Amino acid sequence: MSHALNILKEIFGYPAFRGQQADVITHLASGKDCLVLMPTGGGKSLCYQIPALMRNGVAIVVSPLISLMQNQVAALNEVGVDAAVLNSALPAEEAQAVEQKLLACDYDLLYVAPERLLTRRFLDLIARIPLALFAIDEAHCVSQWGHDFRPEYRQLNVLHTRFPNVPRIALTATADAVTREEIIERLVLYDAKIFLSSFDRPNIHYRIVDKINSKQQLLSFIQTEHLHDAGIVYCLSRKKTEDTAAWLNVHGITALPYHAGMRPHQRALNQEKFLREENIVIVATVAFGMGIDKPDVRFVAHLDMPRSIEGYYQETGRAGRDGQKASAWMVYGLNDVIQQRRMIEESEAQAQFKQTATKKLEAMLALCETITCRRAHLLDYFGESATFTSCGNCDICLNPPDSWDATIAVQKALSCVYRTGQQFGAGHLIDVLRGNHTIRVMQRKHDHISTFGIGQDLPAKTWRAIFRQLIALGLLTTDSDGYGALCLTRASRTVLKGQQKVFLRRQSEHKKLTLKQQPVNDFSILDQGAQRLLDQLRNWRAKTAREHGVPAYVIFHDATLKELVRLSPQTKDELLRVTGIGTHKLDKYGDHLIEILRN
Ligand code: ADP
Ligand code: ZN
Repeated sequence: MSHALNILKEIFGYPAFRGQQADVITHLASGKDCLVLMPTGGGKSLCYQIPALMRNGVAIVVSPLISLMQNQVAALNEVGVDAAVLNSALPAEEAQAVEQKLLACDYDLLYVAPERLLTRRFLDLIARIPLALFAIDEAHCVSQWGHDFRPEYRQLNVLHTRFPNVPRIALTATADAVTREEIIERLVLYDAKIFLSSFDRPNIHYRIVDKINSKQQLLSFIQTEHLHDAGIVYCLSRKKTEDTAAWLNVHGITALPYHAGMRPHQRALNQEKFLREENIVIVATVAFGMGIDKPDVRFVAHLDMPRSIEGYYQETGRAGRDGQKASAWMVYGLNDVIQQRRMIEESEAQAQFKQTATKKLEAMLALCETITCRRAHLLDYFGESATFTSCGNCDICLNPPDSWDATIAVQKALSCVYRTGQQFGAGHLIDVLRGNHTIRVMQRKHDHISTFGIGQDLPAKTWRAIFRQLIALGLLTTDSDGYGALCLTRASRTVLKGQQKVFLRRQSEHKKLTLKQQPVNDFSILDQGAQRLLDQLRNWRAKTAREHGVPAYVIFHDATLKELVRLSPQTKDELLRVTGIGTHKLDKYGDHLIEILRN
């Protein structure tokens, strides 16, 4: 293990292993197979990169996305490791040159796309050289049920058949048991040791707030907590991504849209800009994300509720891969519930699929409406029981909501649904409860029914929250023809009959987080001198990254810049003690850094 630790320190410049990294590395380096399940940002890459350097021969890494491979290779080259990419985007002569070097065993690691790896030609090629290991990244791509399915991944069992003595490591951030079984089966990993890490992401602050005016709320969230930070904003529709990006730009935030309806060239350009430059907000549909390994995404915002906790966790997981503080922020309201239910009802899918989709949606709603720790709730959902009841880093733990006995209000709402014939949406029902003489109320003569005006004691906003929670709790349901009319359920009858009390959560929008509770952007608390130094380092980093044609984080992570400011090292020995500075980067950049730091 001291060998591995030396590599970690000298080449990668990190002082210690994280989580199960050390165990995985020892296991793989000794020539045995394994399956690694680790959350995004857990540090999966080092699990095979270090054994690749420890073992004789070339390590072959299978990865599904070109951009992902290129960034990994760029980062490896930056620390002085011989690595290259082989994929269809490479011109023929260059591919040939890579193959020549491969035959000469000039690489420690070679990244290949699965379709390339599977060609007879390539398999024959690697049969002629010593192989250190096979790493199968994003191994969940074998799963037909996930949305990242890649048919070629299913043929990767050939690696086992043809090279039974070369150890294999499969890695994924997808945690569920079904996918795990599928990976084992498809890749013939029955004898592999499974390394299962906690899927908790302690550096991510989770928050779900009531939707009032989502664009304005988003803007003030960014302005107060994430000004000049890179972030991802998720929306449901293509049009909304464009509108929201335009609105942010008008208000001084550099934002770019991303969705499947854009011209491929423009879309790729926007993604590239987001990856390479700092401080860019990308406003995207769920089409965006796979293969985004940008470590310094400081926030992920949802303007529409995802349809499952799996989706929510995967999307929010793209924040804070570097382990620094990050936010997962979402606005959520009555319309989200109605819209998602309608989408399930209207879909052409089979009954069984609809049932599964409904269950997943209900779990998502329960997360939104929970009055206990969001993190504990999430871990629980993924079958990992939390070791805490309060995490101290989610909105609920920092600002516990009140619950109130809403039985009477709920009875009024339910009986209003009943009296109006279960044919109307929340807007009209609230008009009736509040005693508003709207045209529709008059036309339907709803000002003559017994529930007209019985809800004047509560503002419309509170009624909306009540209806939203009633749907989430299954005390109301939307009708099946998809117009958003609310209907009673079996459960509502026991409440109407007075056999069951209902407690709801109280809106907590008035309670502003106190300063101490606010998740702070670490860069924002520096004094002026430190801030100037940091700006200089960032400028130098941006310039260097441009010269090398790589994203800024490949040169140094934010964490490294921060440590440079904090420790202000003045010699090369001192520089080596900074996280993220290994011997190669010291040789390359040490003099520049010392010059900036001395001034
Ligand atoms: P994953 O693939 O699991 O999402 P990565 O391998 O991309 O995660 O690692 C996430 C980030 O954490 C990377 O930028 C990596 O350099 C950094 N990292 C990984 N292991 C360590 C470690 N032991 N110490 C410090 N930083 C680490
Ligand atoms: Zn919590």
